[in-house]
Amino acid sequence: MVDIRHMQECARLLEPDATERKYLLDHVMAYADGYLREIPEAPAYFSGTDGGKRLWDSPITEEGADIREVLALLQRDVDATGINLTSGRYFGYIPAGGLFHAAMGDYLAAITNRFSGLYFASPGAVRIENIVIRWLADAVGYQDKASGNLTSGGSLANLSAVVAARDAFGIEGKETGRAVVYVTEHAHHCLAKALHIAGLDACIKRKIRVDANYRMDPHALAETVADDKESGLNPWLVVATAGTTNTGSVDPLADISQIASAHGLWFHADGAYGGLFALCPEGEKALQGIQNSDSLVVDPHKTLFLPYGTGAVLVRDRQHLYGAFNAQADYIQNILDDVDELSPADLSPELTKHFRGLRVWLALKLIGAAPFRAALSEKIHLARHFYERIKRIDGFEVGPYPDLSIVTYRYLPKRGDADAFNQQLMQAVQREGRIFISSTRIDGKLVLRGAILSFRTHLDEVEEALDVLGQKAQELEAGL
Ligand SMILES: *Cc1c(COP(=O)(O)O)cnc(C)c1O
Repeated sequence: MVDIRHMQECARLLEPDATERKYLLDHVMAYADGYLREIPEAPAYFSGTDGGKRLWDSPITEEGADIREVLALLQRDVDATGINLTSGRYFGYIPAGGLFHAAMGDYLAAITNRFSGLYFASPGAVRIENIVIRWLADAVGYQDKASGNLTSGGSLANLSAVVAARDAFGIEGKETGRAVVYVTEHAHHCLAKALHIAGLDACIKRKIRVDANYRMDPHALAETVADDKESGLNPWLVVATAGTTNTGSVDPLADISQIASAHGLWFHADGAYGGLFALCPEGEKALQGIQNSDSLVVDPHKTLFLPYGTGAVLVRDRQHLYGAFNAQADYIQNILDDVDELSPADLSPELTKHFRGLRVWLALKLIGAAPFRAALSEKIHLARHFYERIKRIDGFEVGPYPDLSIVTYRYLPKRGDADAFNQQLMQAVQREGRIFISSTRIDGKLVLRGAILSFRTHLDEVEEALDVLGQKAQELEAGL
């Protein structure tokens, strides 16, 4: 006979008792505390490591390991490799943060494991998801009919919006080859991915000209749409970027919304980076017209400083997400019929999901909205400060005045190729690790980017970045 009691005894380790829990928590808390204490001194980039290769030498065993051993691995081989997104001296790509309060939400969500996909399974958890969605919708000026879904990030949120737009316009079969999508060359590459996954590779894609600030030229958009109509095509979707990843430029949303409504286009705004700047007055001004979009993406894991795994898709009319994603199955019988809340499962491709809403809600409840608004205003003003200052450092030239919190710039060396010089400058800065910057290509030229979006980035960190850049450029120029 099988010894079920023996199995039970072995499986008991799945449920630590109070003493064991305290032991684990004490060590984890001490580790987290130590990590947070060291952030002000820690590098923004860990160069010259083996990238955690030694993790492979520590296999998962039958017996399990002690928490101290595991935390040591985490410290050496994970947390001290690669880019350090928790540093306030991190200016690469799109910076992130990881609010402490949100970590409490994740801990509690994992302990209580509420099923936040369906209302009947956890009415309270679904209400929290919906309260967060409503709060985000209010932040961008969406009205009562709006709804949305918390996704794992901006890429999945953009995919959801593309699917909603596809179904709203019945873009399928033969129609696909006549449907036209309007973007600029600065649209995020996840939109091309989204079109591909949504089965829309056959659509015609038009890259609309941009102006000197890398914003979509609305006249060019209107002309192209009119030409396409004339040619018997089906102008379908215009994708405006509310804060491009390259330069933080905001396409002229109000103009685009007028063109979209005049020609019957679906107007999607990708605000994964920039959309939530609507929470502060400077951002609200830059984002005028965003409330007229049919669908919108925002990334709380960027612009609300939350830990990774928090994006959101919003639609002006909830019917469009519901139409694209609701589905029925015999094994999911809603126990209650008179449901006054939409369930995330009816508005997204997911069924079982992480209770993401809790980390957002808890952070907003505990901190309140005002510090977020202040931090976002601060980022915009820090970018303006960075722009004015770097412009005045000998040898540097700047790109357009920042719409939000990204500044592009490059050094013009007295001799030699500027692209190669700036590549070397970036690498020298990265190797040193005090600050982290990244680069992009604009109009065929390599330019450096200063993206300011960590809640830990303040005036001192920006000054330090300016010092490092000035100093490294001089050293390189002098051939040191
Ligand atoms: C970051 C970003 C995305 C992708 O979002 P993820 O959360 O990384 O999936 C899409 N669009 C823009 C404009 C972005 O900045």
